[in-house]
Amino acid sequence: MAEEKKEKEGLIGKIEVDRNLCIGAASCVAVAPGVFELDNENKAVVKDPKGADEDTIMLAAKSCPVLAIKIFGKDGKQIFPE
Ligand code: SF4
Repeated sequence: MAEEKKEKEGLIGKIEVDRNLCIGAASCVAVAPGVFELDNENKAVVKDPKGADEDTIMLAAKSCPVLAIKIFGKDGKQIFPE
């Protein structure tokens, strides 16, 4: 993988799921079941933003086929998608 190495702990401030984009593919749930779950509309919700380490959360966001997961840094800037 040629991902840049910036996934350090303490970077993530906020995780959001765009419900309009989410298609319920559940890859995020498979990668980080402690963080994401599907609600009764089959859309992902953040159940615990601290439910996995930050590398795992980034992987979950990257696993989303429609890039519905947005990750914001502690400074409020969007980290992913870039
Ligand atoms: S991987 Fe993306 S589309 Fe699938 S449930 Fe999670 S947020 Fe929704």
